[in-house]
Amino acid sequence: MTAKHVFAPAIDAHTHLFPERLASAIREALTEETAWEFDHPVEREAVEAILTEAGVERYVALPYAHKPGVAADLNGWLCERARESARLLPFATVHPDDEDVAGVVARAFEAGARGLKFHCPVQGCAPADARIEPALEVAADNDAPVTYHGGTAPMFEDNPHVGVDRFVEAVESYPELRVCCAHMGTYEVDAFLALTREHDNMYLDTTFAMSTAAPETMGFDPTSIPDAVFVELSGSIMYGSDLPNIPYPYRAERAGLLDRDLPGETFRDLFYGTAREYLGLEA
Ligand SMILES: [Zn+2]
Repeated sequence: MTAKHVFAPAIDAHTHLFPERLASAIREALTEETAWEFDHPVEREAVEAILTEAGVERYVALPYAHKPGVAADLNGWLCERARESARLLPFATVHPDDEDVAGVVARAFEAGARGLKFHCPVQGCAPADARIEPALEVAADNDAPVTYHGGTAPMFEDNPHVGVDRFVEAVESYPELRVCCAHMGTYEVDAFLALTREHDNMYLDTTFAMSTAAPETMGFDPTSIPDAVFVELSGSIMYGSDLPNIPYPYRAERAGLLDRDLPGETFRDLFYGTAREYLGLEA
């Protein structure tokens, strides 16, 4: 079997699409903070071409509103892009200080959003922050999942809104809500793995943390997570990439996972089945 046959058909549970001016602003901010350089295009068609070439059948695009008042437009824009594509699964964003948090999210779901995304450090809210409770309730009512940047990587170790102690509040307050901590919960991987073992509604994505470039880009060694963890928790861990905001080729995101000696069914879970369940997609 070639690597592509092991990978495809895949679901990429973590990509980003933003209107072009915002995409450039986000890259500028990231480049300033990290010195990373980005070569990937940002337009929907071009991003999707990279994914399709790799064998990705569906992909999740995650927006996030960095200030109040912009979420509705971002959601509308992304849901429009999804209507142009057979592969794109749009998530919704809302800012904790938006006027009508529940309404913004409800309207996004009506327009086709499939889940909700929070970037806790950028948006200044913990996973179960009281201000976003109405949004979590709308997500639960719609049986829609919620993906968080809820870990301390790559530069948020002093941020009060991230980390496993905050994340557990969302997992335990909303046992019926499927929640995902992106980036394997880095840098508190062991604690997030323990939380995943304890809770059926808890998911992790591999984004950035499992890339072969992770030691240089974020000071994390993906080989520190043994194969046995993926075998044991393949029903709770799904593949993601952060495309197009990655300072390395898309292939590097999956190459380290594909190099592992994992059973075929574990690979199917990681690259497809777990995301399908998380997203509530039809078989
Ligand atoms: Zn991301």
